[in-house]
Amino acid sequence: MFANYLKVIKNLLFPRLCLCCEKKISEGHLCQKCEKKITFLAQPRCSYCLRPLNIDSISLCQECYNKTYPYQRLISATAYKEPMLSLIHLFKYKNYDYLAGFLSSLIIKHLSEIGFNPNKYKLITSVPLHKDKLKIRGYNQSGLLSKLLSNHFKIPFKDDIIENTNIRPSQTKLPREKREKNTEGIFVVKENLENKSIILVDDIFTTGSTVSACAKALKEKCAGNVTVITLSKT
Ligand SMILES: [Zn+2]
Ligand SMILES: [Zn+2]
Repeated sequence: MFANYLKVIKNLLFPRLCLCCEKKISEGHLCQKCEKKITFLAQPRCSYCLRPLNIDSISLCQECYNKTYPYQRLISATAYKEPMLSLIHLFKYKNYDYLAGFLSSLIIKHLSEIGFNPNKYKLITSVPLHKDKLKIRGYNQSGLLSKLLSNHFKIPFKDDIIENTNIRPSQTKLPREKREKNTEGIFVVKENLENKSIILVDDIFTTGSTVSACAKALKEKCAGNVTVITLSKT
């Protein structure tokens, strides 16, 4: 009884609000309207760049047909628009690390819908933050997602395979060509990966330069297939 009173008082003083539109809600993180707006990426898509494909029987778009990528497949769960914009902003920059549970559940939902088979993978890791950035933020958002995917799929998680060795100006402020150059060579893998297939997790797929640089570093240390999984795609 007393606990119920406390709950009522707490709700009056600190009502739970939708993290996107700030409407009062009774449970969860989003109001129903905002939750419905979450857009999962429709299939089929190019395995390398995620351009939508017209037919199911091919896996690469015309642009990527003659290209090679350091990863074998790219999967993104959601479109980077509201409410994902608000959720990811809070998750990355405002210490809402507890959103990892909800956000990883969106990835798991998408993976199950596209029939993703996790069995061949021996390791899950994430795009690392530079240690100075990690110190300021206190957590690596992609690492939190990886950890939960690892628990769900029962695949071992290791967060220190890839090292981020360089401080660079914030990626988003640079034009595309410079961004690609800028990422080159700053990710280092020290251990031999013995042909293990690896899932590499990142929060947002933008140009692909970061995940490509990480996948390249993994391949240089004998990783088997690398599949990139991101929460959202711009
Ligand atoms: Zn809302
Ligand atoms: Zn493509």
